[in-house]
Amino acid sequence: MEITGDYHTHSKYSKNNHGKNTIEEMVSYAKDLGLVSYAVTDHGPKHIFFGIKPENIDKARKEVDELKQKNSMNIFLGVEANLIGKDGSIDLDEEQIKKLDLLLVGYHKGTRTDFVNIFRCMFCGKKQREINTLAYINCLNKYKVDIITHLNEYIRVDVYKVALEAKKKGTLIELNNKHINFSEKEANDLVRSGCSFILSSDAHKKQNIAKLDRALDFVMKYNIPLERIVNVDRVYK
Ligand SMILES: [Zn+2]
Ligand SMILES: [Zn+2]
Repeated sequence: MEITGDYHTHSKYSKNNHGKNTIEEMVSYAKDLGLVSYAVTDHGPKHIFFGIKPENIDKARKEVDELKQKNSMNIFLGVEANLIGKDGSIDLDEEQIKKLDLLLVGYHKGTRTDFVNIFRCMFCGKKQREINTLAYINCLNKYKVDIITHLNEYIRVDVYKVALEAKKKGTLIELNNKHINFSEKEANDLVRSGCSFILSSDAHKKQNIAKLDRALDFVMKYNIPLERIVNVDRVYK
């Protein structure tokens, strides 16, 4: 099995030195690895510490377009937007979304939302879990989301319900190499939902691009059929 692309990585535009390399450095490394596709997806602008400055979305767009001219690989621009509202809203407006090739959405600490009480979330009672679940479902109804990043990390959800909705909408559920947070039951629920998956490194420096050991362990452990993972080559080696 071979990894064909990494669609969730961060560049220096994830501010405060959160991402370590420029887009050009990331692309060059991805190319050397032999990836067919690569996407840079910095944090949404409302993340207090790491969010991309809105003007840098334009800069990143220009850089990605220039790099596409110079390289034969597929290069995409995305943003890992923050889920910020109970109603499913995210921290990008329609104009900003139009500039992107890919829309990723995740929940992150360090972003103000109207639905998470951190204290309650640590214990995450059933009621809070329902609110969180609905926030994701609303989001999938409101936007054309390509990938949900690290579902169930930071806030708990009903994994089965979100995965079913994702399947309906054609949204991929990410298996994030750094954040995989599912119980046995939740993992089995994910598989049972019939959703499609994408494996991501969530690299914040070039050396971590396409690093997917933990995500692949999860795939093996829960017998996820490879045809349900969009970024692996199904040739057995
Ligand atoms: Zn994230
Ligand atoms: Zn990320």
